[in-house]
Amino acid sequence: MIYTCYEMVRDCREGRPEGWTHFISHYVPVIRKALAHYAPERADDPALLDHVLATVRKPESFLFHSTAPPEERWFVAHLRQLIVAELAAGAAEIPIDLETLTAALGPLTMTEKQAAWFETMRYSPAQAGPMLRVSPGTVEKVRDRAAELIRGKVDSWRRTLLAENGPALGREAAASETKDCLPTKAFLDVVDGRTTWRDREMMDRHLQTCWHCVDHFCRMLEVVHLLRDSQPLTEAESEPFCALLGVAAPKRAGWKRFVGGA
Ligand SMILES: [Zn+2]
Repeated sequence: MIYTCYEMVRDCREGRPEGWTHFISHYVPVIRKALAHYAPERADDPALLDHVLATVRKPESFLFHSTAPPEERWFVAHLRQLIVAELAAGAAEIPIDLETLTAALGPLTMTEKQAAWFETMRYSPAQAGPMLRVSPGTVEKVRDRAAELIRGKVDSWRRTLLAENGPALGREAAASETKDCLPTKAFLDVVDGRTTWRDREMMDRHLQTCWHCVDHFCRMLEVVHLLRDSQPLTEAESEPFCALLGVAAPKRAGWKRFVGGA
């Protein structure tokens, strides 16, 4: 029997242990992968993972407050936003904003903008290339060009400017949604090869001037990357996290134990 993400979210909301045990076994590996990427120096700290899990469990978490149909990739995209927000990176030494990026990177195409944007998300050309279906060498060339274009628009500059400003740019992009912005489904349609040539043209045009959607598109490609080859935890591996969240571990869960312990 297939247990869907939709059912998981519903069960978590209703406080059923099967929702939370599924969340732990399937998404702790995804959280670990995201932490290893965004906080490599702290990724081995178990307190960080515990903190993220406790945050998902809080009643104010996205899990309890979204009305969108919880498809797995949608769920992981929200999870990623929560993780990055919890990491709360400090301000960059040389700050830049989206307005500067718009002015500098105007000449780039949609895919080129994405190649540059993935740098703010700390993905190397070797990682971003496959996500964009271009060669790492192409990503590298685009980034060199983007770096020069930005350099021409700012007073102080260094090559790591985009990566250092990543968290702040990501927050600014997420907050700058307009009425013309595309829904998550539009980007997933591209990922799944379901988009028409005309839709793609419209998307190209919109993303030409919208960092919110460039970011959104990149984050959906990132979700596919985060889920790829992800192996669920075993029951034994899940147990400490079930204990942390106060969820009855699988198999030992049940009314008898619950009633008996009350
Ligand atoms: Zn947009």
